[in-house]
Amino acid sequence: MVWGLEWAYILCTVLLSDFVAYGLHRWQHTNPLLWEFHKVYHSAPVMHPLTNYREHPVDNIFYALGHGLTIGLSGGCISYCLGYVPDMPTLYGVVLFSLLYNALGYNLRHSHLWLRWPGKWAYVFGCPAHHHIHHSCHPEHINKNFAFMFPIWDVVFGTFCLPDDNGKVKFGLGDGQEAVYTSCLGLYFYPLKKGLFHLKETFFPLR
Ligand SMILES: [Zn+2]
Ligand SMILES: [Zn+2]
Repeated sequence: MVWGLEWAYILCTVLLSDFVAYGLHRWQHTNPLLWEFHKVYHSAPVMHPLTNYREHPVDNIFYALGHGLTIGLSGGCISYCLGYVPDMPTLYGVVLFSLLYNALGYNLRHSHLWLRWPGKWAYVFGCPAHHHIHHSCHPEHINKNFAFMFPIWDVVFGTFCLPDDNGKVKFGLGDGQEAVYTSCLGLYFYPLKKGLFHLKETFFPLR
């Protein structure tokens, strides 16, 4: 058992997983079709741990498929190129790390309190203040802070935003459509209707 190699595999996979999550999340915001489904998540007017679970099934399926396929393919390529096949405890190490983060950090970042890590640590580890900006509809906060675990991706790709205070933070969509998503019917079916409209516009545009 080569502990150094196994820890390196766990660390690299967690970093890669977070990078892929950043890319998929950014796509959910910039692609008009994906945004119709991701909007449900952003229609919440308040922040609390349950806000995290206000998601459309299509949004979940897209994310799970995109993330699973990318991580599976890259893991297969690494094993093929380097000849290293991780054992089960190593694979469980990745899962355990993610589970711990989801149980602690992922729910914490939906706290209604504006909390941030001191100094430069806020650039490295996610915190509620970082995620409050992502949920804010103030023009200065739109399409900012896509990262999940490590905001370093936002810093690298120019989407990082963390003001000193939350004076400008306002949760919601900012387009007056929040009321559409306050019933089960609206929350589940309105995005499907809008999604079909986008598909029609893409493949059968009106002349
Ligand atoms: Zn988002
Ligand atoms: Zn959130």
